[in-house]
Amino acid sequence: MYCDKMPPSWVTKLVQRIADDHECVPPYVVWALGKKKKYSTGWAAVDGRSIGVTAGSDKVDQRYTIIHEMTHLVLMQHGGTTTHIDEFYHALWPMVRKYRGVMQHALNYECEHHPKSVLHTYKASGGRLTPGV
Ligand SMILES: [Zn+2]
Repeated sequence: MYCDKMPPSWVTKLVQRIADDHECVPPYVVWALGKKKKYSTGWAAVDGRSIGVTAGSDKVDQRYTIIHEMTHLVLMQHGGTTTHIDEFYHALWPMVRKYRGVMQHALNYECEHHPKSVLHTYKASGGRLTPGV
């Protein structure tokens, strides 16, 4: 049975894998379909116990949104930052690589939304792409 409040199995597996790799309690995942939207939106609860995604139609963006929110969750469960400061981005770029997010997409998205920490942390991680390409 299909239910638009249940995450697809690839999401459940990816979330479980990231949680296992980082010794985290897997979060409760709130999944919804964004009507007629291309891009997803996401959130991670500040208690580090749940994440949510309103999924757009773009699969690359769906995957990236999960990786972004799971980076928040990993940091929060280990007592790290809850916000988009350098600490977050130092954790994010290796996560995008490890969990096969599309780096150009991640870079473009983050430069648009949280530009302050993006470029220098990305370059420090060894990244060589240019945003906006
Ligand atoms: Zn975020």
